[in-house]
Amino acid sequence: MASPGLSYVPNHTNSPWQMYLLQVDRVAPHLGHLERWVETLKRCKRVLAVDIPINRDDGTVAHFEGFRAQHNLSRGPGKGGVRFHPDVTIDEVMALAGWMTVKNAALNLPYGGAKGGIRVDPKTLTRPELERLTRRYTSEIGLIIGPDKDIPAPDVNTNDQIMAWMMDTYSMNTGATATGVVTGKPIALGGSLGRKEATGRGVYIAARETARAMGFDITGARIVVQGFGNVGGIAAKLFKAAGAVVVGLQDASGSVANEGGIDVDAALDFVAGGGALVDFKGVSKITEGEFWALKSDIFVPAALENQLTETRARAISTKLVVEGANGPTTPAADDILHDRGIKVVPDVIANAGGVTVSYFEWVQDFSSFFWSEAEINDRLERIMVEALKAVVHTAEKHNVSLRTAAFIIACTRVLAARELRGLYP
Ligand code: NAD
Repeated sequence: MASPGLSYVPNHTNSPWQMYLLQVDRVAPHLGHLERWVETLKRCKRVLAVDIPINRDDGTVAHFEGFRAQHNLSRGPGKGGVRFHPDVTIDEVMALAGWMTVKNAALNLPYGGAKGGIRVDPKTLTRPELERLTRRYTSEIGLIIGPDKDIPAPDVNTNDQIMAWMMDTYSMNTGATATGVVTGKPIALGGSLGRKEATGRGVYIAARETARAMGFDITGARIVVQGFGNVGGIAAKLFKAAGAVVVGLQDASGSVANEGGIDVDAALDFVAGGGALVDFKGVSKITEGEFWALKSDIFVPAALENQLTETRARAISTKLVVEGANGPTTPAADDILHDRGIKVVPDVIANAGGVTVSYFEWVQDFSSFFWSEAEINDRLERIMVEALKAVVHTAEKHNVSLRTAAFIIACTRVLAARELRGLYP
């Protein structure tokens, strides 16, 4: 049973924070003498909740709730995305920040873990309203973010334009252009080549390497992807480019399939042009149940947390799950997949391509010296392949899942830093 964590966090089943705590509990027995520090991982260092009032275009005032959680800063400044979604809660933001601590340490990036969000459906706002919301949120969390304190990035429903507004607001408030305060910016503002594609590319690399180790090739492999946004869309595109057959896709509009393979590039263009995925020609609309039962070699959940539930883990027909989303698999579903012999490459490794290239962007901003896309993709490839190898090695050594192995590597690094720094005062 997971420890209760902070008292103001709801203790309901499948709360992301409870999921995260359970995952920490699973790693604790493997931490040796560092286990005495494990309580550190079960708390957020700092959580800021802010009120965000904005003027609507119709002259009324609307209030939104926003958060920024800094889970652990033992190894460096906080790093993690900002999500605009109607389901954002303090519980979710804390869990996502905890997973960022683990992810950054698993990849050995010199960062702690943080995450932010606003409880809003951005589709209900006009562009000027969205800009005012972003700027006021940035101003409110300006107390705790900064290039050497905590560096936000895009997540669900946020993009390079939102990052540009965040960077400008922070710069206006501090009186100097601070490109390093956010990553995932437009290239013209110190963004990095390859950043937009990095998370999807990392998912693809993790899938390709694990498939190879399991004895099958990406070429000709059947792929199903849930979520057709930045992560799922790019991953699907790269799978197809590598000769895999994308047989099923799902986004918020519904599920679609094509046994012969979906034309992913055309589907991406269609969705980018404002179309709903379910209206895309050349696919058949299928039900939610049919989607989860589609036969595949690799399944990529790349939408939101808590999608791969116990029921779906029993229904899913695949060899390998590669987690593009953060926290898509519940701990109970994890156990079912394990019992069914379905391998899971966990989020903290599989979707770490984004934060890795965010790190490259931050380094480039500090040095004001920019790398070529080939250089970036090459370094990303090497870091991802090495991190994955270390996780596989640790999993074999401790006879644990890839998730627990990634947690062992990451939590050992975080808690060793904690111990070396000691407690203040
Ligand atoms: P996005 O907003 O670009 O895309 C999200 C996709 O999920 C959309 O296609 C949307 O329609 C779909 N979706 C939303 N609700 C759904 C539902 N209930 N069922 C099915 N599909 C649904 O977001 P993104 O940046 O691609 O992020 C997706 C996931 O990847 C999130 O968990 C995010 O935290 C994680 N992630 C993102 C990045 C990044 O760099 N963007 C990095 C690491 C992890």
